[in-house]
Amino acid sequence: MSIAVERLNVSFNGRQVLRDLSLTLPDSGVVCIYGPSGSGKTTLFNCLAGVIKPDSGAIRGLEGKRLAMVFQENRLLPWYNALENVAFAVEGDREKALRALAAMELAAEAEKLPAQLSGGMQRRVAIARALAYGGDILMLDEPTAGLDKELAERVVSRLIEAWRGRLILLITHDLWLAERFATFKYGLESIADAKPDDQQGLRPVL
Ligand code: ADP
Ligand code: MG
Repeated sequence: MSIAVERLNVSFNGRQVLRDLSLTLPDSGVVCIYGPSGSGKTTLFNCLAGVIKPDSGAIRGLEGKRLAMVFQENRLLPWYNALENVAFAVEGDREKALRALAAMELAAEAEKLPAQLSGGMQRRVAIARALAYGGDILMLDEPTAGLDKELAERVVSRLIEAWRGRLILLITHDLWLAERFATFKYGLESIADAKPDDQQGLRPVL
């Protein structure tokens, strides 16, 4: 069954961020949600992740699905090295963890603590952890933050290859990333730019 987001409303401290937002996701392919900073991408992501409960609306079709997540923040355990951070998500399977790190070009960094890694390397450890964890849907919120374009392109294309036949939801503010990889692209417009009773637009980007 496909996933349906139905008329989500989310406000923070009385200020509306998502308004009557609806979206249907396919069972496979790469869905990119593109939009400017502050438009509510992370809020939508966190609703799908179950981290935020919307004020109203519903998300259907996620029951029983296993989600692999890359949150906007890396959420690495600082006292574990890169390999241990990934292995932690796969019941200690170090070989699987190392394969995921290698796909993220981090094999040589496996023994380093997060604090010994650059921001872009830490980001790739978080991506490797989701890749190793596996599941039905891979959800990533700005996965390429801190990566240069060539590295971002290699890393995302490996993820797509590994996740073939399943759904990837990729949130980004880089239009080039959406243009390069998406099977379906949507632009999320900020509610601040909408008229008072407009539904929030998720425009297909052509
Ligand atoms: P994006 O990911 O597209 O940059 P966000 O979903 O993070 O946007 O944020 C959308 C708006 O909601 C921003 O104005 C942000 O400041 C606000 N916001 C997000 N999370 C919270 C929160 N927990 N409390 C208050 N305001 C928030
Ligand atoms: Mg965000």
